[in-house]
Amino acid sequence: MAQRIDLHTHTTASDGVLDPRALVRAARARGIRVLGITDHDTVAGLGEAIEEAERVGIELVPGVELSAEDSEGEVHILGYFVDWQQQAFRRFLDWMHKMRIARAQEMVRRLRELGVPLSWEEVLRQANGAIGRPHVARALVAAGHVRSWEEAFCRYLGRGAPAYVPSAHLTPEGAVEAIRAAGGIPVLAHPQRTGTPERVAHLVERGLRGIEVYYPDHTPGDVRRFLELARRYGLVATGGSDYHGPGTSSKAPLGSQYVPPDSVKRLRALRET
Ligand code: AMP
Ligand code: ZN
Ligand code: FE
Ligand code: FE
Repeated sequence: MAQRIDLHTHTTASDGVLDPRALVRAARARGIRVLGITDHDTVAGLGEAIEEAERVGIELVPGVELSAEDSEGEVHILGYFVDWQQQAFRRFLDWMHKMRIARAQEMVRRLRELGVPLSWEEVLRQANGAIGRPHVARALVAAGHVRSWEEAFCRYLGRGAPAYVPSAHLTPEGAVEAIRAAGGIPVLAHPQRTGTPERVAHLVERGLRGIEVYYPDHTPGDVRRFLELARRYGLVATGGSDYHGPGTSSKAPLGSQYVPPDSVKRLRALRET
């Protein structure tokens, strides 16, 4: 049985394979009542998703997942209830988009230096919006340069691999600030990768208001640890599947994660204060 809430999903606007309307219908079909869409560095899917959600009668929580990085590694910051039509936020996302293109082009250049004759056009063919490593990985698989997505990341694209290019344009603090400036609620995504207590404390000082406690491959120990951090700092505990669509590297089905029933109400209340 699927849960009734899922607050972390992706569409074709970033690296998901379902378009926004199809994702909303898939959620509806699984009995989900509240769906958060959190594409990487883009809100381009939200307009259609909101329309479709109204049509099929479920609630859509507008969101975004900003990619940030510092010397300790990558951090993803979810932003719920962002004012996705705000001019300044749009300009910020346009800038992120340009950075993503430059970064992906640099990865293609490095791959070619490594003797992998991948063209920029082959990567573009995989993408529909916010371009990133998943699209480069799919292009590598499609051209037969690697057998699998995993191989693409291990051999070339993963952090530390030879074609990896850091994003290094947005810091975790900058991501929190960008979401706040757009009236959204910043939430630390999948903290088992990056959520050291020191980092959480530091981001809370900068305005972090939530933490994604429930996430595929969080162990019961992780959940306890992050619930404890949530309590200590008064953070909203959220959760989601990080669903990218059928046939992707998605670890878990849509609606597969427990999400505290009051989390959406708490996020919305924070928006109004
Ligand atoms: P990007 O936003 O271009 O940095 O790409 C990030 C996405 O690439 C993540 O959301 C994952 O889906 C995927 N990814 C990153 N690292 C790995 C890895 N080591 N193995 C498989 N997928 C990865
Ligand atoms: Zn993704
Ligand atoms: Fe993420
Ligand atoms: Fe995600």
